[in-house]
Amino acid sequence: MSRSGPSGRRKLIVAIDGPSGAGKSSVTKALAERLGYIHIDTGAMFRTVALLVSRQGIDPQDDAALTRLCSQLIIEFDSSDGSSRVLANGEDVTSAIRSPEISLLTSKIAAMPSVRSHLLLQQQMLGARGGVVLEGRDIGTVVFPAAEAKFYLTASAEERGRRRYEELKAKGEHVSLEQTVAEVQMRDQQDFTREIAPLRRADDAVEIDSTGLTLETVISGMESLVRTRENR
Ligand code: C5P
Repeated sequence: MSRSGPSGRRKLIVAIDGPSGAGKSSVTKALAERLGYIHIDTGAMFRTVALLVSRQGIDPQDDAALTRLCSQLIIEFDSSDGSSRVLANGEDVTSAIRSPEISLLTSKIAAMPSVRSHLLLQQQMLGARGGVVLEGRDIGTVVFPAAEAKFYLTASAEERGRRRYEELKAKGEHVSLEQTVAEVQMRDQQDFTREIAPLRRADDAVEIDSTGLTLETVISGMESLVRTRENR
């Protein structure tokens, strides 16, 4: 499950799960950079499927149509120019997958067995060699239950809604704070209650409530835990 880096340290699989807006993306990116690991945003993979479902007018409950869509879809992460871009069959969809509409549709299609089983395999292949930080909802419970370091990152719903609101506003989206908090809560509801791979903390995950904590405090805490385990 883990490979050794040039320093002889083991390269681990690090799982970061938690609800939307808990700060997973910023934390995962920074942590991966400090560790010299690859960063895999599994939410972006589900979002990419949702974008194509929306564009192609597919019924989000139609498992057969979703299977067809997934089997023709190649999702790639490209960080060659320093930014991390998401490609769907070669098209840059990095911005298109972040709209509030796509966020809500994503948590609907993420409950479908066809989509989950397809992306599960891809995620396992991407992470299998170690030296990766994967962020998502079920990394520590389903995708890599034997990951050597697991974190469950959370924050209050109000704080998460406020962060999401600031992000969207900075991108020029016209949204209200109330609406954004409501959407975050609706997504939580869908993610926590679905039948397959619902969002929950793995028993052996370290839980971090980031409400009121700086990003630096969260990242350095995680980094020291991973470093300790790399040397075991
Ligand atoms: O992390 P992000 O907010 O981009 O994820 C978007 C949606 O994708 C989540 O609300 C969830 O429904 C779904 N997802 C999932 N399993 C993952 C990652 C994301 O179901 N591992």
